[in-house]
Amino acid sequence: MEILALNPPGSEKDIEAINARLETLDPDAAKSVETCYQCGKCTAGCPAADQMEFPPNQIIRLVQIGQVNVALKSVGIWRCVSCETCSTRCPQKVNIAGVMNTLRLMARERGIQPADREADMFHQAFLQNVRMFGRLFEPMLVGIYNMRSMHLFHDADKGPLLLSKGKLPLFPTSSDSARVRRLFKKALESK
Ligand code: SF4
Ligand code: SF4
Repeated sequence: MEILALNPPGSEKDIEAINARLETLDPDAAKSVETCYQCGKCTAGCPAADQMEFPPNQIIRLVQIGQVNVALKSVGIWRCVSCETCSTRCPQKVNIAGVMNTLRLMARERGIQPADREADMFHQAFLQNVRMFGRLFEPMLVGIYNMRSMHLFHDADKGPLLLSKGKLPLFPTSSDSARVRRLFKKALESK
């Protein structure tokens, strides 16, 4: 593991950038990661914490002490499933899910390869799917992810049972996909 040096050069700018984005995401939530007092409630409720080398409270701590680069290289930010349990549980109203999202964006902007490539492939396949159909169409998501990750038959045995129970649609259900595409366009333009 990298040797941690407290508050390396540039760390204040990183923290400011993260706080600024948190304010954009939700002006009513706590504006600053500095309000975290390490109670651990976020990590206690996180469904993916056992798959992270730095669980949510430690990611927040890394940001607080200026070690954003360590957080950007961690697998945890890619294994976060954006369920927002952490943000809901936080007594300080820190938008931890927003921090995870912001760190993924910062990693991309700095050309840092995702520490978990398959989790990133899943994120990409998910977004592509929603962009195309306006909502999730599971068979397409599984197909794209399995092809890209080269796990061609992953979970294929579950298909027949899910189909027989009516839990797997054969066709995408209707939705306002044009509106969703406009949202994607707007988000890309505002980058
Ligand atoms: S729940 Fe909030 S205050 Fe507690 S450790 Fe997590 S971010 Fe910090
Ligand atoms: S949003 Fe991410 S970090 Fe927060 S509880 Fe869900 S999986 Fe864990």
